[in-house]
Amino acid sequence: MTRCMNCGAERDADKCDVCGLTSSAAEFSLRSKLLNRTAFFLLGAVAFVVASGRYPALELDGILIFIGIVFFITLGIAIWLERRAVQHQDVDTLKRVYYGLIPIPWLLALLLIANGAFDTSAVKTEPARVISKFSMPGPIASRRLIVTSWRDGHHLERVAVDRVDFDRFTKGDLVDIKVKEGLVSIPWVAGVSMQ
Ligand SMILES: [Zn+2]
Repeated sequence: MTRCMNCGAERDADKCDVCGLTSSAAEFSLRSKLLNRTAFFLLGAVAFVVASGRYPALELDGILIFIGIVFFITLGIAIWLERRAVQHQDVDTLKRVYYGLIPIPWLLALLLIANGAFDTSAVKTEPARVISKFSMPGPIASRRLIVTSWRDGHHLERVAVDRVDFDRFTKGDLVDIKVKEGLVSIPWVAGVSMQ
């Protein structure tokens, strides 16, 4: 017994009783759906990286690594799914896993935006010293000030800053990091100023 790649119904004949597609038409339909959803996922990943810079989380780099791992797992599943579809193997379970992963970058982007935009907590000012700076150019540039940490169990903080702040501070500067709690308890950096 095989399942229709288009609607998932069990079928005995080449033509599906439920949706009326033949096995090759169902495969074509599945592959075009996969392509559309992959495009939606890739857009979401870009949206996430852009959105994550708006209210930069203190643990932004950890979050970016997490989304990077999700990204490669999802693309790996997409490739695996495509191969199974071509070989006419059962794709039902894998398809569900894949479709479940697609909205994740969009949801995380919304979460980080909401975390900053609707945050009503008071600003906390944390003193720190700039140890070094790091910048990665590109279409979505990332700039970090590496500063001493004020949190227990942390030595360093990698604070995301814009170009102006990145150029303004140099190694050894004493700075105040303005931190907010975040609506969903993801602390984020509201600004950096000279002490
Ligand atoms: Zn069907």
